[in-house]
Amino acid sequence: MGERDAEEVIAEVCRLYGEKGEKAVRAARNGHVIQYHDFCVVIGTTDTYVVDEGFCTCGDFMYRESQCWHILAFRTAKALGMIVQRDEWYMDLL
Ligand SMILES: [Zn+2]
Repeated sequence: MGERDAEEVIAEVCRLYGEKGEKAVRAARNGHVIQYHDFCVVIGTTDTYVVDEGFCTCGDFMYRESQCWHILAFRTAKALGMIVQRDEWYMDLL
């Protein structure tokens, strides 16, 4: 993906999701979206959550069923090719 495409994706995420979008973009840029062999995780402000396209283990998603910024971070990082690949199993780190 070209530099300008990436900027467009980022602008779009921020426009559509406001503050949540900015958090998602920041996480993607900081390498906080990590793909392990078994799971993909997002490192949040207070904890690390397992995520995918439509699922997250955080309270916001589990109890309020709202689309949290972790899922957004996962999607943004995927679109930008910024998911960090780790040659490890997340289960082994727990
Ligand atoms: Zn979440």
